[in-house]
Amino acid sequence: MGPHAVLAAATAHFGEEPEVSGTRGSGTLFFGACNLRCRYCQNHQISQGTRMRRASPSPPEAIAKEALRLQTLGCHNLNWVTPSHVTPWAVEAHSLAVAGGLRVPLVYNTSAYDSVEALRLLDGVVDVYLPDLRYSDDDTARRLSGAEGYVAASRAAIVEMARQVGVDNEHAPDGTIRRGLIVRLLVLPNDLAGLRESLAFLRDALGTGVRLALMSQYFPAHRARTDPLLSRPLHHGEYHRAITLLERMGFDNALVQAPEASEFYRPDFERGDEPFADSPLARLAREPSGS
Ligand code: SF4
Repeated sequence: MGPHAVLAAATAHFGEEPEVSGTRGSGTLFFGACNLRCRYCQNHQISQGTRMRRASPSPPEAIAKEALRLQTLGCHNLNWVTPSHVTPWAVEAHSLAVAGGLRVPLVYNTSAYDSVEALRLLDGVVDVYLPDLRYSDDDTARRLSGAEGYVAASRAAIVEMARQVGVDNEHAPDGTIRRGLIVRLLVLPNDLAGLRESLAFLRDALGTGVRLALMSQYFPAHRARTDPLLSRPLHHGEYHRAITLLERMGFDNALVQAPEASEFYRPDFERGDEPFADSPLARLAREPSGS
């Protein structure tokens, strides 16, 4: 991709952490392409597919307009998804949106493969960091996601994020997050994520009170179907071992995704702005709560 941003989808999303999605959804702006190339990417239609190579750039004015539309829909925040490779253009669009009346918090939703130098430019712009700490072994990161030096880069990035927004998260009266950090840990089959080492790093660097989100939503998408170590869903036993590990290491502020989440998170980006239209999450969001 050349030096520009492509907005692949803009939608109210109800599948993020409860304090991010709230009751009215998180205003997600999905940027096309990605700085990782995960074999198991569930968003591969927009992160690695030909669709993005054919796409024309999204002007900053158009991105700002979508941000304001999501705020008007009532979304609790604006959520940049995979912005690391297009940060300057996203910031440019964001300043236009703020000038146009955008007031909701900005969430930076990333694989944590961000340089500290780039993150420093976001100090005071981003309100909530939502990094996914994916691996604790460089060889695995290189093989599964094509990322060199992932471990040191992601850990330095998370430390910088915590320096900017702290780990004592602030919430609005309705319980949605206003400022802070949530570290996601996606459990992969065969312990490819090296969870124990990542948790040890988080405990030592940020303490056991840091907000974590343990994620069970893995399913073998994209090129994972033909990879011997990735071609199956998680076993219940391995997810439960991850939960036990988290508890034994003393983390007391963790959100644990339900084991059946892999049934929920199956986006289809060929649906334009409604990639989650057929998912159980979208159906739940459309149905009245009864209250
Ligand atoms: S970081 Fe996320 S969006 Fe990017 S390739 Fe990996 S799974 Fe896909």
